[in-house]
Amino acid sequence: MTEQASTPASPKAKAPKFEKITAVKGMNDILPPDSARWEWLEAQVRALMARYAYGNIRTPIVEPTPLFIRGLGEVTDIVEKEMYSFDDRLNGEPLTLRPENTAGVVRAVAEHNMLYDGGKRLYYMGPMFRHERPQRGRYRQFHQIGAEALGFGGAEVDAELILMAAELWQTLGLSDVRLELNSLGQPEERKLHRAALIAYFEQHIDQLDEEAKRRLHANPLRILDTKNPSMQALVEAAPKLMDFLGETSLAHFAQVRAILEANGVAYTINPRLVRGMDYYNLTVFEFVTTRLGSQGTICGGGRYDYLIEQIGGKPAPAVGWALGVERVLELLKEVGTEVPTPKPDAYAIIPEAAALPTAMVCCQALRAAGVKVQMHTSNAEGMGSMKSQFKKADASGAKFALIFGADELARGEVTVKALRDGSGEQTAQTLNEAGDWAALLMA
Ligand code: ATP
Ligand code: MG
Repeated sequence: MTEQASTPASPKAKAPKFEKITAVKGMNDILPPDSARWEWLEAQVRALMARYAYGNIRTPIVEPTPLFIRGLGEVTDIVEKEMYSFDDRLNGEPLTLRPENTAGVVRAVAEHNMLYDGGKRLYYMGPMFRHERPQRGRYRQFHQIGAEALGFGGAEVDAELILMAAELWQTLGLSDVRLELNSLGQPEERKLHRAALIAYFEQHIDQLDEEAKRRLHANPLRILDTKNPSMQALVEAAPKLMDFLGETSLAHFAQVRAILEANGVAYTINPRLVRGMDYYNLTVFEFVTTRLGSQGTICGGGRYDYLIEQIGGKPAPAVGWALGVERVLELLKEVGTEVPTPKPDAYAIIPEAAALPTAMVCCQALRAAGVKVQMHTSNAEGMGSMKSQFKKADASGAKFALIFGADELARGEVTVKALRDGSGEQTAQTLNEAGDWAALLMA
């Protein structure tokens, strides 16, 4: 419940002088009380990251465009059609609003030589930008939370990241999330598979759509990621990368699976899971729900052992994931997970403006002691009637009203009235000893 603006109503409603400016299409304002759900989710994630010893990293929202072209790959949805790119107005440098943050993290890690003393476990939260058709679960400014472990080559780190995400779903009360897993092997293995794939699709060229034809020689693996229903059967029967993997790749995959199984994390192997960026190798995974329509992927990730080198850093292995905050919040709503909504402990009722200085000294002392205090405010007519003040106190959700009446103040006291327990009980408290009775309001 927000308070009403305190400006007096204008006598005659006039047509506004200026045309209204609204938010950019596909970019959303996040307002109270909804923003409390965001803060709650972020707090759960911070606690989770602390339990796994991941440190926070914050990189710029704008990066040099070549970072994404080189990092994500030229023949990807993002680079081909989804980036917000522009030239710096002074030096013409091509810049892009980040469409994802793995490339930015990798740039920062390489730039600051962060792996000089061993691997780093990092996480981030923030807005990403993609020029997509806005719809449920798909926006042009959206938010990701991501975790990246850089400088670690072992399969146990892939598994750690997956366990961490699985724990988050559990913490959030999301049981309806399925894990899909695949291995993309190593570049040489993919090359063999790629040749087989091109040969296969060439045999069935008449069944390919325009996009697939265009990708056939540039990036045939991405054809497997098609959302075109008329190509599903064709793609289903295509040569499987898994059949081209060597011993080392298979062992890595087996180790990831063994750790997941030991920890009771269920998964299905989806040989068609290739992910939207070119930088992945070995393990890739997605967490998917059926409850959000076609935007059902809430989290995706995998290993990217060659990305650091590709953007000019010293070669080092890495693995990570990113989740879509809007989709996770939508799913939370869908399954009805209760999220605590912040309410003040106390609402300060101030009958006369003359009491404001004294009342506000007391409110400050209470806040210093940790009490959440919402204060009544004046409008053009003054502080308003007691009745209207109590109405606001009620709407605020506060458990107590603090009544700073003239009689009380004269005695050096404030009245504390219970609003929610049905008792309506009132006690008198000493004004200038708020620290001593503050705990009463937080019970
Ligand atoms: P999709 O196949 O749905 O387009 P993606 O493969 O492009 O997803 P990633 O780049 O892996 O998505 O990003 C990780 C997560 O970020 C996704 O699983 C999804 O939850 C979220 N996400 C991606 N694009 C958007 C968007 N435009 N709006 C809201 N969330 C998004
Ligand atoms: Mg996408």
